[in-house]
Amino acid sequence: MLHSKLPNVGTTIFTTMSAMAAEYGAINLSQGFPDFSPPAELLTALAKALQDGKNQYPPMMGVAELRHQIQLKIAQLYGADVDMDREITVTSGATEALFVAIQAIVQRGDEVIIIDPAYDAYQPSIELAGGIAVHVSMTPDFSIDWQQVQDAITPRTRGIIVNSPHNPTGSVLTRQDLEALAQLTEQHDLVVISDEVYEHMVFDGVAHLSLLSHEVLRQRSFVVSSFGKTYHATGWKVGYAVAPPAFTVEFRKIHQYVTFTTHTPTQFALADYMQHHPEHHLQLPDFYQAKRNLFLELMAPSSFKFVPTPGTYFQLADFSGLSDLSDVELATHLTQTVGVAAIPISVFYQTPPEQKVLRFCFAKDDETLRQAAMKLTVFSEQAA
Ligand code: PMP
Ligand code: GLN
Repeated sequence: MLHSKLPNVGTTIFTTMSAMAAEYGAINLSQGFPDFSPPAELLTALAKALQDGKNQYPPMMGVAELRHQIQLKIAQLYGADVDMDREITVTSGATEALFVAIQAIVQRGDEVIIIDPAYDAYQPSIELAGGIAVHVSMTPDFSIDWQQVQDAITPRTRGIIVNSPHNPTGSVLTRQDLEALAQLTEQHDLVVISDEVYEHMVFDGVAHLSLLSHEVLRQRSFVVSSFGKTYHATGWKVGYAVAPPAFTVEFRKIHQYVTFTTHTPTQFALADYMQHHPEHHLQLPDFYQAKRNLFLELMAPSSFKFVPTPGTYFQLADFSGLSDLSDVELATHLTQTVGVAAIPISVFYQTPPEQKVLRFCFAKDDETLRQAAMKLTVFSEQAA
């Protein structure tokens, strides 16, 4: 007989809602992915890499050209001088980087603090490493109460996972948050895993504060990012982890036996594109802020309530004035009957608070957003 190592885990909410959207022909604003293509020059660069024979195993830590581009970007944006040979590892998506970083730090019985609502990949990885996920909830306005984090620390606490810009709430860490985190990590000798896959989606003139920009945190952190979000190519599954040399040694010991390496031509294509188009990621905040604003404008006549999302390509919507259903029930109803799929956010909590909130992904063509908003607005009028 097989004894499940993850008895409480089912199929992810993203797979569940996307499958439901497909089955019912709903506009899919649930799982986070764009419905538009990566830049044309990036596709050309990928075709060229294939034709140029970049088709065999790349170096285990990632091709030098791509690690070099990552190093340059980190220096320019976050002022950090990172060693591409000893501190950067290319991975098969941020998912692999998170998994490997967690396996590298967690020993049997170790506790890792995660902040609810938490992206669903963290807890299973902690449990597979024999660790225990300790949940600390965000405040009602989706910020972190560092006193509560401190109260959750025990002699078994090994690390903490933070995520900024944050999925699903869109909240971003402030300078004060970084200082509070730095103080706790030093005081309790913690390792930080910082999930920064939405690093280029921060709005309203605010800058993303990478942990790489903080001298203390940088020495104690695995910083994880993903090309999938930045280049509208979520299916390519290329990401990376940046960590101090001693952390990276342990990280690579595991990475080499999880995937060994990451798809070669895609790495060359990304390196080529980054070198010639640094403007792409610099323009991303404006690009997505315009989509956020369009979605909010289109939804303004409805009874959903919004606080404009500070980051990511997700917008939360409070439906407490609209329906007595739970968020899971309303997400199902909207998908099956109204024709728009969304993500319920209660599934990201160990103990969901009393709130009625759905997450909509606005990484969509303007026309898709228009059609979705029309259906949601009609639903809202009928429900009122
Ligand atoms: N972290 C967060 C917060 C995410 O939203 C996602 C994916 N959507 C990932 C990690 C995984 O990224 P990737 O697709 O590169 O594995
Ligand atoms: N991170 C994406 C989201 O939040 C989905 C990734 C996945 O499907 N695992 O929607």
